[in-house]
Amino acid sequence: MTPVNWKPDTCECEIEVIDWDTAQGRTIKTCSAHQGLIDDAHMAVVYLGENKVKNLALEQIKKAVPKLDDPSIEIPYVFEDTVGKARSISFELPTLTSKEKADAETAIATISSDATIL
Ligand SMILES: [Zn+2]
Repeated sequence: MTPVNWKPDTCECEIEVIDWDTAQGRTIKTCSAHQGLIDDAHMAVVYLGENKVKNLALEQIKKAVPKLDDPSIEIPYVFEDTVGKARSISFELPTLTSKEKADAETAIATISSDATIL
């Protein structure tokens, strides 16, 4: 494939992706949360890790809470940076009922133990 420049929607990094399937890439720019990561190790954390967790969790939230399964609804999320720890992700859904929130939390717990619903 032709390499593409990829800017994830989960941080400010930029990576030249050589192959998505094998997560091969070359670092172009590193954000403050990902200092020290280069090339394939950078892809592993940003693409296989954070970006996939975010996408899978959004999918699971929409399955668990059908009213959110609408392309016009955007679910805001934020990553928290803790030095020396994997970044944790939170989805901001203040309009959920407590049952919906519990269903969404159960659904994302299968994806990542570091993901929460706010
Ligand atoms: Zn980054």
